[in-house]
Amino acid sequence: MAKTKPGKKDLDSYNIKGTNKVVRPGDCVLMRPSDSDKPPYVAKVEKLEADHRNNVKVRVRWYYRPEESIGGRRQFHGAKELFLSDHFDVQSAHTIEGKCIVHSFKNYTKLENVGPEDYFCRFEYKAATGGFTPDRVAVYCKCEMPYNPDDLMVQCEGCKDWFHPSCMGMTIEEAKKLEHFLCSDCSSEDDTKRPLNSFHVSPPDELKVDSKRRKR
Ligand SMILES: [Zn+2]
Ligand SMILES: [Zn+2]
Repeated sequence: MAKTKPGKKDLDSYNIKGTNKVVRPGDCVLMRPSDSDKPPYVAKVEKLEADHRNNVKVRVRWYYRPEESIGGRRQFHGAKELFLSDHFDVQSAHTIEGKCIVHSFKNYTKLENVGPEDYFCRFEYKAATGGFTPDRVAVYCKCEMPYNPDDLMVQCEGCKDWFHPSCMGMTIEEAKKLEHFLCSDCSSEDDTKRPLNSFHVSPPDELKVDSKRRKR
């Protein structure tokens, strides 16, 4: 028995209307929001399917922007950060307006230039509870915050930790001119080591939050 319903056909690719761009399963796409004032939604294409009248439907897995998450945007979230959610949906392929690239965090930090189509993802996100995977990430600097790739940091030659210039009482211009940098702990005689901490990412009451799905 065939698993597909009668009249439905899996497609290998879909051509975005009015462009020469081709979307295939596994690609990341920008989708037109119903409210045109909002930035486009970002999704990963799972499957493309045409019905008997050649209407193309796309099964997607949504990426959430930090402001769309239950915990909201935090100081360490990058401007181009996305969370890979557990929220799947079926949409008309007409809502696809472009393609984008969602990089791993490591690859994103190595990009020479960040183009409008470049995003990154370091967390998976549970849409119902607001929980993140991984749940804890490394922290840096005196302020003990996770790394935000949009913020300049300088590395201490002593402890190898990374620091925000502002947390060290420097301007960004001063930090850029530095050839050597020692943090205040390493430059003082007192060599008490700071504990290696991690940052708890998920909202503390994640299990108490009602399950809410975004309306599309
Ligand atoms: Zn800092
Ligand atoms: Zn140091």
